[in-house]
Amino acid sequence: MNGYFKTSCPICAQGIEYPKEGVGTDIQCPSCQSWIVLRRDLPTRWLKFWMYFRLPVAFLTSLAALGDVRAMSFSSFFLIAYCGLVASVMSGLIKRKLWGWKWNWVFLSIETLLFPLYILSVLFAGQSLKPGASQSGAAIALLKLYGSLLLVYGSIWLLPNAVYFLKRKHLFK
Ligand SMILES: [Zn+2]
Repeated sequence: MNGYFKTSCPICAQGIEYPKEGVGTDIQCPSCQSWIVLRRDLPTRWLKFWMYFRLPVAFLTSLAALGDVRAMSFSSFFLIAYCGLVASVMSGLIKRKLWGWKWNWVFLSIETLLFPLYILSVLFAGQSLKPGASQSGAAIALLKLYGSLLLVYGSIWLLPNAVYFLKRKHLFK
């Protein structure tokens, strides 16, 4: 039983129907005449989770954190800018805009740098340096811990996401 395979041209976005046996071969787009590889559309479940859950959660937690910041400070300016960034990335990805895909890398980088900081702040909440302890020694130990957390988080979170989004650049225009 032969069927037709439906996809869209990555160059001109024209819908294409082609016999299923053609998947994986080079075909010429009937609309813009470009030669393209007929490939199965990649799944976008994670992208939907990202747009409709991950980004809204980042927006709401930053908004909540902004409520805790009393005076106008670097933190409040950062949080306002971050909320703006998250909202823009969300709308850009939903509209399948290339700028949304690009700014998503900024979001992903900031998030990767911030998450280990957040873990450290939870681990060391309310702790102060013991009298007589070496301040620079403590700072170096903290920096090493941050580096290790960054390495772990980067490989289990940033790396798979980077691969995922790189493979789906063609979905954005
Ligand atoms: Zn085309």
